[in-house]
Amino acid sequence: MSAAEFDVVVIGAGPVGENVADRVTQGGLTAAVVESELVGGECSYWACMPTKALLRDAAALRAVRHLPGAGAAVTGELDVAAVLRRRDRFASEYRDDGQVDWLAGAGITLVRGHGRLTGRRTVSVTDPDGRVSTLSARHAVVLATGTSPAVPPIPGLADARPWTSRDAASSSTVPDRLAIIGGGVVGTEMATAYRALGAAVTLVARDGVLPGVEAYASAAVVEALLASGVDLRLGGSPARVDRDAGGTVRIRLEDGGLIEADEVLVATGRAPRTGDLGLERVGLAAGSWPAVDDTLRVLGADGALLDDGWLYAAGDVNRRVLLTHQGKYQARAVGDVIVARATGGAVDAAPWGRHVPTADDHAVPQVIFSDPEIATVGLTARAAEATGRRVRSVEYDLGAVAGAALHADGYRGRAGMVIDEQSHTLLGFTAVGPDVGELLHAATIAVAAEVPLHRLWHAVPAYPTMSEIWLRLLEAAGRDTATRQPA
Ligand SMILES: Cc1cc2nc3c(=O)[nH]c(=O)nc-3n(C[C@H](O)[C@H](O)[C@H](O)COP(=O)(O)OP(=O)(O)OC[C@H]3O[C@@H](n4cnc5c(N)ncnc54)[C@H](O)[C@@H]3O)c2cc1C
Repeated sequence: MSAAEFDVVVIGAGPVGENVADRVTQGGLTAAVVESELVGGECSYWACMPTKALLRDAAALRAVRHLPGAGAAVTGELDVAAVLRRRDRFASEYRDDGQVDWLAGAGITLVRGHGRLTGRRTVSVTDPDGRVSTLSARHAVVLATGTSPAVPPIPGLADARPWTSRDAASSSTVPDRLAIIGGGVVGTEMATAYRALGAAVTLVARDGVLPGVEAYASAAVVEALLASGVDLRLGGSPARVDRDAGGTVRIRLEDGGLIEADEVLVATGRAPRTGDLGLERVGLAAGSWPAVDDTLRVLGADGALLDDGWLYAAGDVNRRVLLTHQGKYQARAVGDVIVARATGGAVDAAPWGRHVPTADDHAVPQVIFSDPEIATVGLTARAAEATGRRVRSVEYDLGAVAGAALHADGYRGRAGMVIDEQSHTLLGFTAVGPDVGELLHAATIAVAAEVPLHRLWHAVPAYPTMSEIWLRLLEAAGRDTATRQPA
């Protein structure tokens, strides 16, 4: 069978695969992208977009209720059917026509079907009718197959027909009682969303709620979850899950507690979609997370570059950072690196430099759309200390900032920054409070660009905005930060 040949073959047309293909095409190479489901991937239909649409109406309602005049105009309750309809619209009605048109417009070839590595630079594609074709890549194959939900081996759970994040994101009904296992970002966001949509929610958070963020930020979310009526089982660990003939799910906790629900959402992490990808054909274990070097080339089991470096892995599947914007950042970098290598250019001279995805290491921004919202970039104080650096943290009451008080009556929030005492730059920033997500990019610039504190004093925040938190944090860090030079 003859193989269709392209410069680059990308497996997976999620946000990352699409962007890799686009970047190499813009660099003058030809690209095919293989997709087994919908072009646009998890983010477009079952993750970022629909989940944020599920949360948005309730957030707007909370905001307006903190303004007496506007709040007086709101006399009814959330229209759940309208929220779900808008969610469907943001999931493009689960159709990928728009993204398919975009691929065609960008000059990228779409091959529908399941892709598998079959050998050096070759990929077989099984289409929905079972027909198999072969693609070969002149320069590179890129794995961008993302992840799927990991279902933990809790006795009875798999047979209890649990919801995964896909079900929670796309359900056309709101269960009366929803139990959620897992207090990470997905569990917390979905507890917030479904509670606001009217479900009685129980959240089982063995390791606490949002354990990866600063303690003052997770504490604010715990307080709001409890205030909204979520039944929070902190430290709880399910011992067994069953669904009876009537459909009721029973979760027995190790401490003897019992939770009854109509649905149980499992939000306990992700597994790489590499189980049926042909990894074993290139000497890697099926189902493993491919390890990569700093230009995202896949490493062999011995830790050395696989073969001559024709295989790359970008986005969620390489486990560096499981966020769309970071995956797309990797996609731009890896696209340029592939073009540089294919055209004899120097990779070190590419815009991304020697260590390609540098911001994957120290400046990852994330907004958690909980109530209240959390915005973070860089390291927490705990993580910064663990690196052995000399660090100092300062915090400030966001509600005391004029712009925040104006934003909403009774505004409650907090922000903090983590300072590297040697370089006098920011290692991290966290804010918690309504609408803090829009504060984040200033912090991302400060952390990613390693702006010295004495220069930050000259970035004057406009009055009266929430950004004045920057001035207050600098003041809290001490007047001398305006003049102090790096040690
Ligand atoms: C509930 C939830 C909410 C989230 N919210 C946010 C958010 O608000 N912001 C944010 O930044 N991130 C969010 N994320 C994370 C975000 O969804 C991922 O980081 C992002 O989708 C990763 O993109 P990707 O292209 O690497 O993988 P994916 O989006 O998973 O795309 C991979 C694609 O590869 C295809 N594929 C897999 N295997 C094969 C194969 N063998 N052959 C052919 N095709 C294949 C899949 O069908 C899929 O289309 C969320 C995740 C979840 C679960």
